[in-house]
Amino acid sequence: MLALATGNRHKLEELTRQIGIDLLPPDRFGLVMDVEETGTTFEANAKLKADWLSAHSHIPALADDSGIVVDALGGEPGVYSARYGGDGKSDRDRRLLLLHNMEGKQIRTARFVCVLCLSFPEGESVFFRGECEGTITFAEQGEGGFGYDPVFLDPESGLTFAELDSAAKDRVSHRGKAIRKLIAWLEDGGRERVGSYSIPA
Ligand code: IMP
Repeated sequence: MLALATGNRHKLEELTRQIGIDLLPPDRFGLVMDVEETGTTFEANAKLKADWLSAHSHIPALADDSGIVVDALGGEPGVYSARYGGDGKSDRDRRLLLLHNMEGKQIRTARFVCVLCLSFPEGESVFFRGECEGTITFAEQGEGGFGYDPVFLDPESGLTFAELDSAAKDRVSHRGKAIRKLIAWLEDGGRERVGSYSIPA
């Protein structure tokens, strides 16, 4: 059992279906996440979220910080992927902004990055990072997934992440890769350590 520091239901779904361990959202502890993502790296922002929830729930807490890094845009939007173009934008608005900013760009390489941080109430943190390479499409393709999935093309299948089914996305995605590292850590003694905590009454 782990606390999970996210209000993003897509992340919760992807993590839950792959990790095979109970993930308890903040509201399970009567908490509302109140963390400003002030870091300039995925690691720093994941740690801010995991530390906050672990300190408040008193059990180990997992956080996911992720985003898309586009070479022709100097690495943008990167850690600012969720806030690209400012507040009040939908996922679709941000995708269209990205496509607009990519107009005329020949080099369309990009990668998704996911950093999972597992923080313990005593203060220690462990990190698991996954990356996957792809290219930015010229238009949205596909109905599945979330965020930038419809504009990110997986080179192996020739499909966007929004066209892959969930099992296929998990196999190649940044989050899938980070999760498999976390699972290896759990299998190497981590599961006992995590299992030694219980929710305070
Ligand atoms: P944060 O980790 O909450 O700061 O937000 C990450 C942002 O990156 C999300 O809002 C999405 O826009 C984007 N993102 C992260 N992972 C994925 C993914 O698997 N597919 C599509 N977009 C993603």
